[in-house]
Amino acid sequence: MRVPTGLCSQTLDCVLECCWETLKCGRRACEQLAVTHHLLAQPYPHLDVIIAAPTLARRLFPNVPAAPGMPCAGEDRSIYRRGARRWRKLYRVNGHIFQAKRFNRRAFCAFCQDRIWGLGRQGFKCIQCKLLVHKKCHKLVQKPCSNEHVDPVEAKDDANGESTLGRASSVRSRAEPEPPLPETPPAPAPASLVPREDLEPGSQRQYSLEDFELIRVIGRGSYAKVLMVELKRTKRVYAMKVIKKALVTDDEDIDWVQTEKHVFETASNHPFLVGLHSCFQTPSRLFFVIEFVRGGDLMFHMQRQRRLPEEHARFYAAEISLALHFLHERGVIYRDLKLDNVLLDHEGHIKLTDYGMCKEGVRPGDTTSTFCGTPNYIAPEILRGEEYGFSVDWWALGVLTYEMLAGRSPFDIAQAADNPDQNTEDYLFQVILEKTIRIPRSLSVKAASVLKGFLNKSPVERLGCGENGFLDIVNHPFFKSIEWEMLEQKQVVPPFKPRLEGERDLANFPPEFTDEPVHLTPDNDTVIADIDQSEFEGFEYVNPLLMSLEDCV
Ligand code: ADP
Ligand code: MG
Repeated sequence: MRVPTGLCSQTLDCVLECCWETLKCGRRACEQLAVTHHLLAQPYPHLDVIIAAPTLARRLFPNVPAAPGMPCAGEDRSIYRRGARRWRKLYRVNGHIFQAKRFNRRAFCAFCQDRIWGLGRQGFKCIQCKLLVHKKCHKLVQKPCSNEHVDPVEAKDDANGESTLGRASSVRSRAEPEPPLPETPPAPAPASLVPREDLEPGSQRQYSLEDFELIRVIGRGSYAKVLMVELKRTKRVYAMKVIKKALVTDDEDIDWVQTEKHVFETASNHPFLVGLHSCFQTPSRLFFVIEFVRGGDLMFHMQRQRRLPEEHARFYAAEISLALHFLHERGVIYRDLKLDNVLLDHEGHIKLTDYGMCKEGVRPGDTTSTFCGTPNYIAPEILRGEEYGFSVDWWALGVLTYEMLAGRSPFDIAQAADNPDQNTEDYLFQVILEKTIRIPRSLSVKAASVLKGFLNKSPVERLGCGENGFLDIVNHPFFKSIEWEMLEQKQVVPPFKPRLEGERDLANFPPEFTDEPVHLTPDNDTVIADIDQSEFEGFEYVNPLLMSLEDCV
């Protein structure tokens, strides 16, 4: 097996687990697989799991289809739209395999007996024997893992007399802070969770599935299905992102749902970000009702246009830069910039969607370390296992701009498809880390320079990451013709207007989605029985801004 240089310097005491794919095929099985390999002391055991996942690089076919939208010779559409993933770290000590967790009920450390509390992932839980310890204590645990369930230290009754044990089932990750210690006054509810009675008087208070007519399936991502829907009361069209709760059973996954919701709320204030209308749930599913963006995504357009003129790529890259800068200024790393997540509105302006990979609460200079993203777009610093910040988004913009200009990925390993050694994710990561990126000679000097700037493997030297930050992008010669203020106000006419014959025309969405039956499969009682509904408390939300707009209809 090829060893990915620098892929994870901590690999020998942690296993990276391929998570999104395993969600689909059964998390436990794959988790165990990873663990088994690790125990067998194979080097880089997680790679077997990752290789088992069918994901590779994006491929844009170099030939021309018979008609727009038709497949190219040899084109297999299943290779597109690869999902974003997170790899989970597991820490091995004395036979235990610890995973970081956060607890919103009382849990006590099996090592020092003190309470495990706070907002972050302050506790570690052994995925085999369920032992709970502080993160800071996990390396000190002497007791070997029994591989059987060991009861965590008993929790004491709290002031209300309620016995709250730190059991495995108590692991939660809602947006609310942990229940405070008895003497601490309760923290205020986040704005999004304020009861709707406190929102606009007179507006409709809550939405449910019955309020919407489901019109068509328009997209699928790594874990969501997206529908075009109509709000019956106003006849307005929205997109509805539907997520099965059964896919969101892990506490980290629930974090992402909350993050996605928060960022959707933040995004409602920017012209180049998809905003939120409302959220609601059924026993089996979560629903985000969001702005419907009619022009389809850039993946769809790139599959038809092969590559874009520099003028077009410049316009999209500049609007995306503004969207990213807006998120960064609000402490959000986007972490999943790719063609599938960039939508075009009816005029041809971009809108970023899909905030499930975002990292919130990042202040200037702060860093994070989660190994996540979509393989083809993951920045070298993430692959090297380094702490990283906003730099990873500028790297991904480099990859995406390269794809727009060259019509292929800068890490195109398509030609290696027949060689099993080179047709793996670890090979792709090696290419990202080590290979010098070749810029097509057909591109202008300025385009080559901006690509080299964004695709600098060293985050400190990367365009957008220096002392001047975003200003360096604004002032880059490639963007010289951009009038940034006009652009932000949508005053610049887009270079391409999606073909649309009405508000509900779905010509810009792939038929493999729009031809799907639109109904949601009926709830399965056994699946629902396994869902802890309390995990999703407070998910409901109505955007007061959009509500008041609707009332004007
Ligand atoms: P996932 O989180 O599973 O990747 P996404 O939010 O990216 O799901 O949605 C999947 C696809 O659905 C996108 O690639 C895009 O083509 C389509 N889509 C998502 N949101 C919208 C929207 N608001 N308007 C139109 N199409 C959308
Ligand atoms: Mg997506």
